[in-house]
Amino acid sequence: MTKLATMTLSENCKDFIDDDFLNKLLTGPQPSPSRIQEIISKSLAKEALTVEETAQLLRADDPESVESIFAAARQLKTQVYGNRIVLFAPLYIGNACVNNCLYCAFRSSNQQAVRRTLTTTEIRQQVEALENVGHKRLILVFGEHPKYNADYIADCVREVYDTRVGHGEIRRVNINAAPMDHQGYKKIKAAGIGTYQIFQETYHHQTYAKVHPSATRKGDYLYRLDGLSRAFEAGCDDVGIGALFGLYDWRFEVLGLVSHALHLQQRYGVGPHTISFPRLQPASGVDLDEKFLVNDHNFKRLVAILRLAVPYTGLILTARENPELRREVMAFGVSQIDAGSRIEIGGYTEAGDAQVMEREQFCLGDIRSLDEVICELLQDGYLPSFCTACYRLGRTGEHFMEFAIPGFIKRYCTPNALTTVTEYLTDYASPKTRAAGKKLIQKELDNLENNPQKNELLKRLQRIKQTNDRDLYF
Ligand code: SAM
Ligand code: SF4
Repeated sequence: MTKLATMTLSENCKDFIDDDFLNKLLTGPQPSPSRIQEIISKSLAKEALTVEETAQLLRADDPESVESIFAAARQLKTQVYGNRIVLFAPLYIGNACVNNCLYCAFRSSNQQAVRRTLTTTEIRQQVEALENVGHKRLILVFGEHPKYNADYIADCVREVYDTRVGHGEIRRVNINAAPMDHQGYKKIKAAGIGTYQIFQETYHHQTYAKVHPSATRKGDYLYRLDGLSRAFEAGCDDVGIGALFGLYDWRFEVLGLVSHALHLQQRYGVGPHTISFPRLQPASGVDLDEKFLVNDHNFKRLVAILRLAVPYTGLILTARENPELRREVMAFGVSQIDAGSRIEIGGYTEAGDAQVMEREQFCLGDIRSLDEVICELLQDGYLPSFCTACYRLGRTGEHFMEFAIPGFIKRYCTPNALTTVTEYLTDYASPKTRAAGKKLIQKELDNLENNPQKNELLKRLQRIKQTNDRDLYF
């Protein structure tokens, strides 16, 4: 067996996940209703919960407690985040992979996978197709392979920013790729990335070892767990964590995520920008133990509990889930969703209406168009947003600011959602979506106080509708 090269870890790196401790927190009696209420009140006062408090919410599985957790998550979402939902799309660049993660169709041993890496011209074509339907924010996704090194990823990021068609442009590029070393993060940061996402997949050591063969780079639990600490040390302070739900007990994974968020917060003074909670989906050639698959009810519980545990962190709900469930779960505090997504490599120009399993990492549950998703959001009273202002103005830690600075949402988030959705409605929307948008925008404007900023906003909305001026952010 070839020995993998030793990689540099972050300063004083340590494994902060203690399986026995977390498992112990999950056993024991149901917390009393008054204890649940106490924890909920702390969260509604916008204080992050401890791992122990989160475990108590996870242990509460009687219908009454679960309902009060759901209600609190909905309340926190409306009171704090308002009705905005940020939209993005994933762009799969290549599925070459040296790892052999048992759950993933890109794993090296999967002979059925059609391997492909987009050429520069193809990247441009995909980006143009995404811009032509109105996208402004992308996440680039890569397998793990020596050819997808930091220089390569940085070049892809620059290529995306450089591709413009009509009024279309990508204003924020996030990354989901293998953990890097310090040097790597610096190069990617210099290309202007937004969030760097790494999912731990499972925080449970034994399960991690079972699904990630030890002879692979990803088989090194600590190197991955430490991945975003290195990002912080290299100056990337905008990171996303996640767990792949379905590999081990979902409640344990929630505690892993919360421990990770608290670790980053304590160590670097900033928590993760986002948490993702993908559920394991069927994938080409994958035959996995179904023991830990998370049903819809528990999925809702986990989203609601995460919302309460880390009130400052954005929550991402992906198109792995079907439209009905997405609609329901959104109310529990989701802040970002992908829409109009295709994950076959080249899928934005080449895919038909059906998904081709051999060409994708797993099967998506929602392949509706961006326009359909936006129309539904508007009809449900959500305000879709393509805002990228904070990141571009250096207002980092934007989720923190939404909470901490009085009036932040009114001053920045809502106006920027209104300008970006007006761009969408003017340039790309179907007549039905445009009509739904017009109604919602009027309602939002009616709710804004009359002041000089509102006058400025109204002027900008007119400029977008009547001229070629775009990207007028606050
Ligand atoms: N190759 C990089 C890595 O593993 O970190 C980039 C990410 S991979 C292309 C994106 C994510 O997809 C993984 O981190 C994993 O959580 C998720 N994923 C893999 N197989 C999946 C499946 N069958 N169902 C749902 N999500 C899956
Ligand atoms: Fe490769 Fe990532 Fe898939 Fe694992 S999850 S096989 S590392 S693409």
